[in-house]
Amino acid sequence: MSNVQMSFDEMWDKIMECDRSYDGLFYTAVKTTKIFCRPSCRSRKPKKKNVIFYETILQCEEAGYRACKRCQPEIEHCPQIDLIRQATAFLVNNHQKRILLQDVARHVGISTFYLERLFKEEMNETPREYLEKIRMDRVAFLLANTSKTTLEICYEAGFQSPSNFYKAFRERKRCSPTEFRKSKQTKESGHAVD
Ligand SMILES: [Zn+2]
Repeated sequence: MSNVQMSFDEMWDKIMECDRSYDGLFYTAVKTTKIFCRPSCRSRKPKKKNVIFYETILQCEEAGYRACKRCQPEIEHCPQIDLIRQATAFLVNNHQKRILLQDVARHVGISTFYLERLFKEEMNETPREYLEKIRMDRVAFLLANTSKTTLEICYEAGFQSPSNFYKAFRERKRCSPTEFRKSKQTKESGHAVD
């Protein structure tokens, strides 16, 4: 139901990082084991060529995959999880635009107050912090995989001003965007850089 707009390579990055922020937005199915997982699963990583991503648990099951016993993608502990997933999917799909808390609340159909409280309880961060993380992930992906300029990437990821962007980047990555790009490109030298 979430239908998140991400490329295969971006989803692949998230599962390599066992990133909990994307749980519920897509599932990783492994063709060789016939098991499906949450993005955050810490089991041994499959080979890239054996992976297929699905949007829903139903799709995984219909394609003949069983739920992983370790990350238990079919079990949710919070009864309001659907609201959270609607909010995270909305933020992931709209991160390139300017988004207000009211926009998210309206999309989910609850008050901003309730949304913020629920989100914080389940995700351990506010919707605003989550959005910044999603934007930063997008920036990191674009820096590593394209030759766009830092400024282009800043706006493409939804940052409204370069100074906010540089500050946020340094806080999260502990280096400048240029240094980050260099480190990624040396690490993956031999691969084409778009
Ligand atoms: Zn798993």
